[in-house]
Amino acid sequence: MGGKALTGPQGNEDAKKDRTKESIIETRKLESYAEHVTSEMHACSLCGAVRYKKVPVKRIGKLWVCMTCLKELKLALDDLERWENETKIKDKTEQQVDKGLGLDDA
Ligand SMILES: [Zn+2]
Repeated sequence: MGGKALTGPQGNEDAKKDRTKESIIETRKLESYAEHVTSEMHACSLCGAVRYKKVPVKRIGKLWVCMTCLKELKLALDDLERWENETKIKDKTEQQVDKGLGLDDA
């Protein structure tokens, strides 16, 4: 509403206004561009690296994880079963050691 009230002999004022308007538009453009860039920019939730557009960052639930971390995650997952078994074996060994110590004491 009521944007252009001045349409008279004050051509100088108009030009000034136009320039102001232009700079406002430029600022808006920059702002929306920055917003656009920011929306495509993600920090990896695991390593904290900021990735942008060309470097893939995948959304997993509420997290963003970069390709590097995903690969490491995949390796860890591939290794999960073996790791789980190792943990179980370790637990057993520790239990046996505990028992053994208990028996030794008695
Ligand atoms: Zn990462």
